[in-house]
Amino acid sequence: MSHYITEPCIGTKDTACTDVCPVDCIHPRKDEPEYDREKMLYIDRRACIDCGICVDECPVRAIYREEDVPAVWARFVKLNVAFYEGQEAAKDA
Ligand code: SF4
Ligand code: SF4
Repeated sequence: MSHYITEPCIGTKDTACTDVCPVDCIHPRKDEPEYDREKMLYIDRRACIDCGICVDECPVRAIYREEDVPAVWARFVKLNVAFYEGQEAAKDA
């Protein structure tokens, strides 16, 4: 299980969630090169411990537990996963 970031992050992307995540599994942070390129942030499902701390920090309610992601934003689960798969692929290249 994991939490995932959904559409409302686009256009906000204030990184409030990255400051509170105890396992640093929300990226890109402002100090990472991908930050300017990405429209939103993503949660690494392999590292998320489902603590829920980030949920209340988000000013636009963009973060949901996997089973609570609204159906209209279901595709965002794949976008979160794809961001980290892309990073792995880049490392292997
Ligand atoms: S639920 Fe907890 S571990 Fe998962 S991204 Fe949010 S703050 Fe980090
Ligand atoms: S707190 Fe919400 S809007 Fe801000 S970066 Fe995190 S998910 Fe996006």
